[in-house]
Amino acid sequence: MAIDTATTGTIGSALERDELVQERRIVTDLPGPRSRALMERKLAAVSSAVGTTMPVFAARAGGGVIVDVDGNSLIDLGSGIAVTGVGNSAPRVVAAVQQQVADFTHTCFMITPYDSYVGVAEALNRLTPGDHDKRSALFNSGAEAVENAVKIARSYTKRQAVVAFDHAYHGRTNLTMALTAKSMPYKSGFGPFASEIYRAPMSYPFRDGLSGPEAAKRAISLIEKQIGADNLAAVIIEPIQGEGGFVVPAEGFLPALVEWARANGVVFIADEVQTGFARTGHMFASEHEGIVPDLVVTAKGIAGGLPLSAVTGRAEIMDAPHAGGLGGTYGGNPLACAAALAAIETYEEDGLVERARSIGETIIARFRDAAASDARIGDVRGRGAMIAIEFVDPETGEPDAALTGRVAKAAHAQGVVVLTCGTYGNVIRFLPPLTIPAALLDEGLDVVLQALAAS
Ligand SMILES: *Cc1c(COP(=O)(O)O)cnc(C)c1O
Repeated sequence: MAIDTATTGTIGSALERDELVQERRIVTDLPGPRSRALMERKLAAVSSAVGTTMPVFAARAGGGVIVDVDGNSLIDLGSGIAVTGVGNSAPRVVAAVQQQVADFTHTCFMITPYDSYVGVAEALNRLTPGDHDKRSALFNSGAEAVENAVKIARSYTKRQAVVAFDHAYHGRTNLTMALTAKSMPYKSGFGPFASEIYRAPMSYPFRDGLSGPEAAKRAISLIEKQIGADNLAAVIIEPIQGEGGFVVPAEGFLPALVEWARANGVVFIADEVQTGFARTGHMFASEHEGIVPDLVVTAKGIAGGLPLSAVTGRAEIMDAPHAGGLGGTYGGNPLACAAALAAIETYEEDGLVERARSIGETIIARFRDAAASDARIGDVRGRGAMIAIEFVDPETGEPDAALTGRVAKAAHAQGVVVLTCGTYGNVIRFLPPLTIPAALLDEGLDVVLQALAAS
């Protein structure tokens, strides 16, 4: 069936629009007829390796809702994947991009530069942890920025080895697949992978019971014995792991690693692609324990949904590669830079760091309460608007991925977009837009809790 774009357009395209009503509203089966027809076209046109969490097609989104092509209004508890922290089509972002797209769309920063790129670099240098002299470079995706952080660290240290951690996720390109821990679906069949990547044990308090210093000692001992500090260019870690299950390392783990890295001339890279930009109740998750990474990698929340990523860090490290050694055709695209400046202004001016904290308090309170009478909730953890629920078999403590899948599916059927994650597939994660109205967040959590009670 062909899609009647004239009709979907009335839901989705006029520039002068009504305010998006902030409500959950289900007017068809989910997916509705238009989404089903589009899904058939997707199956015929798009590689089946590109999956979707929900089979509904978006027409419009903003605040805390996604409206689909059938007119259903869903509660968004995922922000894409932690991207639209400022909300979809945030007003400042829309205005800035509209202006920029009319002025120029591309010149290539490496050919004839423009000021918004410099402005984004200045903002990142100001906002990332530490008051040392910093420089930034801009790229397109999180994975591309991670790759560049590794290039920069190798160039600076003239060493090759890189350590990543259990449960890590750093992307899907060749080097970042090697850094990523989980085989399915990210790596299986896609090797050979980049060499000189080593894996160290993570601090995972719910599962290993170790204190931060104990877990750091375990990791450092492995690094020293199996790799040798002299061979190590960088340690890369997510301050709170994302895809791996929102694993918050025990207190003291990150500071001990930073201290060891500094003492051994190893570049400490914080991958803040998912945790950055107010998400965790600080502008960056590294701030929770006051660590100052040498390099910080950012992407997802940076530009209100436009593709942009960055590496920011100590000037002497960032300036180590030879001139022309970093770059790319689209890196720091002018539309994305305009969007990033508007998004950063929105995070700062609209108090979204504080908003992330109150979202987190709400989610944690609801699920800690539920956990008191439901032993399948093994752990409730996270910071700010980055909260995870880990489901287990109450008898054995084993991960319960099947239950997790049922809860997510039931929530989807009721019009709530929730995501799962975790090495064992047994974690539901909450990453709502920081602009979600409080009542809508409550309703979304009601739906998930009802789904759990019925599963
Ligand atoms: C999503 C993510 C990446 C990869 O970003 P892409 O833009 O998908 O390439 C890297 N690191 C972390 C922590 C992420 O969450």
